[in-house]
Amino acid sequence: DTIGENLDRAVAAHPDREAVVDVAQGLRWTYAEFGAQVDRAARALMAAGVAVGERVGIWAPNRAEWTLVQYATAKMGAVLVNINPAYRRSELEFVLRQAGVRMLVSAQEHKGSDYRAMAEEARSSAPALRELVFFDDPTWDELLAGADYVAPQELTERAAVLSADDPINIQYTSGTTGFPKGATLSHHNIVNNGFFVGELLGYTEHDRICLPVPFYHCFGMVMGNLAATSHGACTIIPAPAFDPAATLSAVAAERATSLYGVPTMFVAELGDPGFAGYDLSSLRTGIMAGSPCPVEIMKRVVAEMNMSEVAICYGMTETSPVSTQTRVDDDLERRTGTVGRVMPHVEVKVVDPATGTVLPRGQAGELCTRGYSVMLGYWDEPERTAEVIDAARWMHTGDLAVMREDGYVSIVGRIKDMVIRGGENVYPREIEEFLHTHPKVADVQVVGVPDAKYGEELAACVLPADPADPPTREEIAAFCEGRLAHYKVPRHVRAVESFPMTVSGKVRKVELREWAARELG
Ligand code: ATP
Ligand code: MG
Repeated sequence: DTIGENLDRAVAAHPDREAVVDVAQGLRWTYAEFGAQVDRAARALMAAGVAVGERVGIWAPNRAEWTLVQYATAKMGAVLVNINPAYRRSELEFVLRQAGVRMLVSAQEHKGSDYRAMAEEARSSAPALRELVFFDDPTWDELLAGADYVAPQELTERAAVLSADDPINIQYTSGTTGFPKGATLSHHNIVNNGFFVGELLGYTEHDRICLPVPFYHCFGMVMGNLAATSHGACTIIPAPAFDPAATLSAVAAERATSLYGVPTMFVAELGDPGFAGYDLSSLRTGIMAGSPCPVEIMKRVVAEMNMSEVAICYGMTETSPVSTQTRVDDDLERRTGTVGRVMPHVEVKVVDPATGTVLPRGQAGELCTRGYSVMLGYWDEPERTAEVIDAARWMHTGDLAVMREDGYVSIVGRIKDMVIRGGENVYPREIEEFLHTHPKVADVQVVGVPDAKYGEELAACVLPADPADPPTREEIAAFCEGRLAHYKVPRHVRAVESFPMTVSGKVRKVELREWAARELG
């Protein structure tokens, strides 16, 4: 199926059910209304002269029209380029140039950022860019008005020539380990992934999915929007950007059955001063994903947010994104201790990163995935594509994982983060989890620093619970004594005020490692 066919089916099956609710704008569309608006916007894009395969960028916080542009571009065959609303001018220019974006749809202003000014300035260095369109602005109305010049029949004819294997979307990776890469995805890639994510959560047309996660990321647009339309479910947009109180109040007011978030969002919701006052009894399921999901938080989400069927997903932008997911009937141990088991029609294997041989269950190695979900490639970067997708179409994820006896997968960390100290492989994540239990540690990141004797030594960068009383190296060493192998005990302990973060809220270990090497190496 193409994304357009996927939506048409939901419109035909559930015309009167709600498709999109935008709480901040007080806007509600049924599937019939949404389908009609998408068709109109698709015809408008055709009227503007956008051809099949041309790139249309979207650079805006969450709102109903974001979804509209998502489906309209897919319906008329343009390639949607998701641009992170936290990007600033130079990052915007990079994406506009790299993807050769022809039309940019943007918000005007959000949280004090003047998107209009930045977009207009970027124009001079993005030669392919022809049209700038802003929401809540005459340029948006003019674009839509163009639909009158393209007959519905022309859209039908256009839809008929599209193939589900066509590229439809360029999504940039988070840039945790380096410069973001533009993963090029087909209809087939993301429609199917959205469908199976929804299947495993048991979605039906009665589900109402609250999405505080960004649409520019696959978490929002695939696991959220596409999972919803492929089941006739409704998406609820609580606010343009994450806000814990707005999210909780949208769940209560809209009787959401499902709620998504990265771990830090759930932490903020559980810690919201008004938490106890919201009626969360309509919730049943949801997804926590994007980075390691602490067991304690999962337990609280199940117990205090009524989300007994909450799932953890593991994946990456390059694989549409989800490769493994916990199942709604998994027990708490599997649901909290693993990232689930393989998705339908996807293969996973754990290999020795050096030799490529498949490792026995229980042993840590690189996770590789194969199936419909593997991207077409990085946009305009065949060499980088060849570095991660091998001749047999296996995607090498760069993540270290263990396949358990029961087929469930645990993520150990990223290969790039692994420290080799005196010949021993050390996984920072394990030490971080352990140090988290020290009362003086609010948060901690462990990295390797160059060492003349051992090759690498471990450094713990600690965010102290009390900045006036950070833990010393001796205290940490005493804490580890008898509980961690000697080679895992951090040689260096350094209090920090914050960690370098990506815009999607992940710690940039590369940067931290460079800093630690300079300071401590
Ligand atoms: P870049 O590739 O640009 O360095 P990134 O890998 O962080 O950035 P994404 O595609 O957004 O970009 O994130 C995918 C990565 O996130 C995975 O490779 C994995 O390391 C991590 N991840 C995703 N889900 C989970 C999870 N449930 N548990 C642990 N790690 C996860
Ligand atoms: Mg990555």
